[in-house]
Formats: sequence, structure tokens, C-alpha cells
Amino acid sequence: MTIDIGSPLLLLGRGADPASERGVACPGDLPPASDPALVERAHAAKAALGDRLFVLGHHYQRDEVIQFADVTGDSFKLAQEAAARPQAPYIVFCGVHFMAESADILTGADQRVVLPDLAAGCSMADMATYEQVEECWEALEDAGIADDVVPITYMNSSADIKAFVGRHGGTVCTSSNARRALEWAFSKGSKVLFLPDQHLGRNTAVLEMGLSLDDCVVYNPHRPDGGLGRDELRDATMILWRGHCSVHGRFSKESVDDVRARIPGVNVLVHPECRHEVVMEADHIGSTEYIIRMLDEAPAGSAWAVGTELNLVKRLADRHLDKTVVFLDKAVCFCSTMNRIDLPHLVWSLESLVRGKVVNQITVDEETAYYARAALDQMLALP
Ligand code: SF4
Repeated sequence: MTIDIGSPLLLLGRGADPASERGVACPGDLPPASDPALVERAHAAKAALGDRLFVLGHHYQRDEVIQFADVTGDSFKLAQEAAARPQAPYIVFCGVHFMAESADILTGADQRVVLPDLAAGCSMADMATYEQVEECWEALEDAGIADDVVPITYMNSSADIKAFVGRHGGTVCTSSNARRALEWAFSKGSKVLFLPDQHLGRNTAVLEMGLSLDDCVVYNPHRPDGGLGRDELRDATMILWRGHCSVHGRFSKESVDDVRARIPGVNVLVHPECRHEVVMEADHIGSTEYIIRMLDEAPAGSAWAVGTELNLVKRLADRHLDKTVVFLDKAVCFCSTMNRIDLPHLVWSLESLVRGKVVNQITVDEETAYYARAALDQMLALP
């Protein structure tokens, strides 16, 4: 019997699909994960490389990796940190593919950005391809509204999508400045196309800009014209791309109800990539940097249920032993692609650099980098 699964499934780390954020082969002779000397080897390789190396660690990385980061942060902070180190020829990015692309765009031509495992992609970034976004723009042109639309893409998107937005006079945003990006966009046009995270777009528009849910439509790239009629596109103020984060999308209203029943007086603190019904139930909403700050400033004895990636929540719980800090969902859920970067991959990439071999270098072609940079620069220029 033959089963048609539509498109081939790629196991993480196997096969090759360079157009995807996921499932890309990671070559290399990795040390075994059981090697007890891995920590020592990573320290030794870092010491040998000295100032020639700068290691970036995203907040969602594993503890075994984050201990080697020279700086930790969210994706945008890390790209800026990389750009601020022109003297380091090697930037090892412990994060996912789109982050390493942004670092390559913002760093000098003689700096090499390395992603220790090429299978570390992002399922959300994969939900918007260049061809799909071009088709969407054609649908907006057919509806006669493209001139009124300002595109915004979340940092969590491929360099191709950032370049598309740069070509069409839009901007990149992060979860910290999404409101400022929307305010800027609405000063330039009457509609916004928000890529690729529908939840961040909707939550910002409704909770921070005073728009209603009826002002938003969802463009589904898997349906002709996004599954929307021309009148629906013309009437909409926010055209949200049908994408989401597979980690933050897991949290539900039931998760919130459940934790409130289990821990009386708990403060529910969630990331704006969570679904609208979840942020509506939460006490506080903000980016990873905001979440970290809230917990740093919270009084001893307070209780917090945090709706973001589990590696970060675990670290925050360990750091704040005088407070109760729990994961919002009962089921364990790490970001599987963030978790691809483990100690064996880190040691392999660092030791390769010591031998003078640059492995897993992430490069963005010149034209894509030019327009993606225009969208990133527009974000930096936001009021
Ligand atoms: S947490 Fe979500 S948005 Fe971040 S890398 Fe993982 S899938 Fe992508």
C-alpha cells in the first residue's frame, strides 16, 4: 500500500532542504554526548580562540550551552551585540537559523557567523516563504489595496521575508517594539500586513492599539487568495499572516484556569506570541526581556506562572528560589529546534574553528541582505 503524505517528512538533522528553516542536514563528526570531557573541551576551545570568538546565547537555549555564552538575550539584542563586536572574526550563534541570518546581515563582511547545528530552524519562520508572501501581495494588488498596505515582519522570519518587507517600504519588529512599529506603519498607510505571527499582530493591534478583532483578518497562504474575498481584504485594517509559534501556541485558557486553581494568588505572565484568549486571561504580557525583568523585580514570596519557553522558565525558577515560578502548562514543552544546539554541536563547531575550519557558516546573499537591512534599519529608526 502506498501512502501519499503530500510532501516528504524530513527528520530533524537528516535530509536536506535549504529552503526550509528545519530539517537541514548537519554534517560533521560530532563528539559523543556521553563524553565526560565535553565541558572541559568547550572551555579549552574558547580559551584558544580568545578575543577572536564571540558566543551568543538565546534565552531559550539549554543550560549546557548557555553557560558558554558571552552574552545572552533575545534575537534582536543578540544581533546587535554581534554587530558591536567588529573585532571578533567568529560569531557562534547559539540560537536558530533566522537569528544567525540577522547577525550575518548586521555584522561586517569579514566576520563569520556559525550556527552549531544547521537543523536549528524555527517552525514559525517556516510558515511564511518568499513565494507565498509574493502571492499574498499580488492578492492585495488585485484587491486594489497594495498601495495602502505597510508590511511588518516579526524578527522571527527568514532573511528573504525581511528583504521582501524592506523592498515594500516596511519594517521589522520585535515583541518589545511591535506597538511602535504599528504606530509608525499606520502613519504611512491605512492597513498593515503582519508576518508571520498572527498572535503577536493581533494581540498588539487589539490590546495596545485599540483595534477590534473585527478589524483583523487572517490570510491563509495555503488557500487561494488567502481564503479571503476582496471585500474582506478591503475592509480589514490588520491582515494577519496565518503563522504561529509551536511553543507559545500550546498554552490555552484551560492552562491558565488550571494554574489559578492549583496556586491561589498566582500571577500569570505570558509572551505575546500566545493565543489571544490566553493573553486575555493573563495578568501581565511581554517579551522575554520583560518577563525576566518582571521576575527580577517581583517581591519574595510571590507566585508566577510563566507562559514562554521551558528552558528560560526553568532558569528563572532556579534564579528566584524565594519566589514560586512555574511553567504555565502542565506538559513539558521545550522548543525542539532551539534544543538542537547541544554541547556536542557546540564543542564540534568551536574545535573546528580552533583548527582554522569554519563549519556551518550562515551567509545571506548581498541583495537579500541589502533589503533586509533596510527593514532592520527602519526598525532601529522607529520613534
Ligand atoms: S520558540 Fe517558537 S518562535 Fe522561537 S524558535 Fe522556537 S518555534 Fe520559533
